[in-house]
Amino acid sequence: MKNFIMLSTVALLFWACVTENKKRVNNLEDFKYLVDEFADIKIIRYQIPNWDELSLQQKEYIYYLGEAAKCGRDILWDQNFKYNLLIRKTLENILTTYEGDKDTEDYQQFLVYAKRVFFSNGIHHHYAEDKIIPVFSEDYFHELIKHSNLETFPVQEDTAIEDFSNWIADVIFDKNLYKTRRSSDNTKDLLLESATNLYENVTQKEAEDFYAAMDDPNDLTPVSHGLNSKLVKRNGKIFEEIYKLNGLYSDAIEQIIFWLEKAMNVAETEEQKNYTQLLIDYYKSGCLKTWDDYNIAWVLDTEPKVDYVNGFIEDYADPLGRKATWEAVVNFKDLESTKITAIISENAQWFEDNSPIAPKFKKKEVKGVSAKAITATTLGGDCFPNPPIGINLPNANWIRKDYGSKSVTITNLLTAYDKAAEESPQSTSVEFIYSEEELELNKKYGSVGSVLLIDLHECLGHGSGQLMPGVSPNALMDNSASLEETRADLFALYYCADPKMVELGIIPTLDVAKTEYNRYIRNGLMVQLSRIELGKEVNQAHMQGRKLIATWVYEKGKEDNIIEKIVKDGKTYFVVNDHDKLRTLFGELLAEIQRIKSEGDYDAGKKLIDTYASKIDPELHKEVRERYQALNLKPYAGFMNTRIVPVEKKGKIVDYIVEYPTDFVQQHLDYGKEYGFLKVMY
Ligand SMILES: [Zn+2]
Repeated sequence: MKNFIMLSTVALLFWACVTENKKRVNNLEDFKYLVDEFADIKIIRYQIPNWDELSLQQKEYIYYLGEAAKCGRDILWDQNFKYNLLIRKTLENILTTYEGDKDTEDYQQFLVYAKRVFFSNGIHHHYAEDKIIPVFSEDYFHELIKHSNLETFPVQEDTAIEDFSNWIADVIFDKNLYKTRRSSDNTKDLLLESATNLYENVTQKEAEDFYAAMDDPNDLTPVSHGLNSKLVKRNGKIFEEIYKLNGLYSDAIEQIIFWLEKAMNVAETEEQKNYTQLLIDYYKSGCLKTWDDYNIAWVLDTEPKVDYVNGFIEDYADPLGRKATWEAVVNFKDLESTKITAIISENAQWFEDNSPIAPKFKKKEVKGVSAKAITATTLGGDCFPNPPIGINLPNANWIRKDYGSKSVTITNLLTAYDKAAEESPQSTSVEFIYSEEELELNKKYGSVGSVLLIDLHECLGHGSGQLMPGVSPNALMDNSASLEETRADLFALYYCADPKMVELGIIPTLDVAKTEYNRYIRNGLMVQLSRIELGKEVNQAHMQGRKLIATWVYEKGKEDNIIEKIVKDGKTYFVVNDHDKLRTLFGELLAEIQRIKSEGDYDAGKKLIDTYASKIDPELHKEVRERYQALNLKPYAGFMNTRIVPVEKKGKIVDYIVEYPTDFVQQHLDYGKEYGFLKVMY
């Protein structure tokens, strides 16, 4: 499972760099995080902090794994749509050999189209799933082809270039052809309506029947049938083409194996060697049982610093949720951030004992959940250029239940999102923050604050408190998810301002909490409304939680002017005047929500939701939407990869250094050349 960052939520996660090392890296001269913007996308670079603290062997290990992570790029392109590779090679040839005028509006539009295709790993929008239609004309496309090197287009033998040009133009421009990558229209055949290349000539019914015959409901440790194959029908026969060496995608898989074998030789531990060998065996055989063995060995290995994901893993792209796309992430532990979640978890009992809820609702024995924070070094396949910020694997339910899972947050990507937002001339902070002082605080501590809130929410909040005997966990019914998010947020809010936070060394000063309180109120009462269409109510659980909390404390604190509503030049702001009293209110509401949950008081829960969580003041809603839209922010973001380069001295590799390229198109052209292993299909 993946957690993606939603740029449209204004609650952009911020991450501060408090350690000396990080500071040093962030002072890389003239380092720009935001490197490109086009269509609805911005392109960001990430840094690799603490790279030089790795041993030469760890760097070498990461380098080989990084190469393996890039070798499967073509696989994903082909999985997304059968003509993606063909179109990409066509675009690459135009980009590198076109001899006409490039200073025209048409050419700029062509460039935008090429970038969008690179970003989406194909011709369909990476998120919306619909085909990206170019803004330049079909005639111009033919011109581009005519004035490029005709020898180097991926034309099939015996095909005239004009025929090639016409045919490929249809694929790109015809609005009715290959409309959607993954259809979710349940009224029609999901496979026939989808352009994805995970199935061929197979109807939804045929695919479902095929796998129903394979799945055994009594198997307690089932392999994931269909995970690593394409299901095809030829000559009336339905069969699987397995992704493996000497099977489908063999040429790319051979390269992945080549680098994994090199990596295995310099692994940090025996365990790493063992599961990497299992992964190689799996790529060679395609055997799903071996895949499970690999996952078990991998999930049990929590010690080493360097880790990686490499394989056919997530099934989001399959309309039937069975087949996995290829992806890879190479990373090493972010010790500084991991330490913080560990401290929080270790002190879980103290937090429970001192919480403002009634003693009978407190857990006698509470365990915190600890997750690790990682620094990504290379992103590949379906994690590039648009990676998740959190990953929780493996996906097989029985393995999760019997052996657990690894849950990670990718901190250097979070930092990069944060820094890139600061580099944008427009930001929601500048628009919705009232005073210079608050803006300064936000710059300084916004990052630490929101991450701390997430840590407290995840590591402690959900696990705190207990139900009274006989109370059903589902007693709050339709409101249970929202009230649960409210409860976890309140727990986090209450504790982030506790002196204990500074005492434990989790934050440097309580100004972090002050900053977070300001942000939470601003977001709960205003900014998050930008995501909701006019006339609609708040209904998503996390958003309802924020709305409920912010509105409740605003109302309760009115008399004491704890939160002040200020309107200036027609713009509304909410300013927190008394952070201590605000904390007391958070504590009061936490006690009440805990009571509601512990006693299963459905009516009281429903009343809170109805009064504070869902309804939006239409005037304010309209204002927030207009102010947000005027900022013209890009809803999607993705990354350029770093380049890890071996340093040679007298024929020996003595170090690996990190380079940070700046040209998005060039990186993709380079990848096309260096990692283009698969043949084009017609
Ligand atoms: Zn939650």
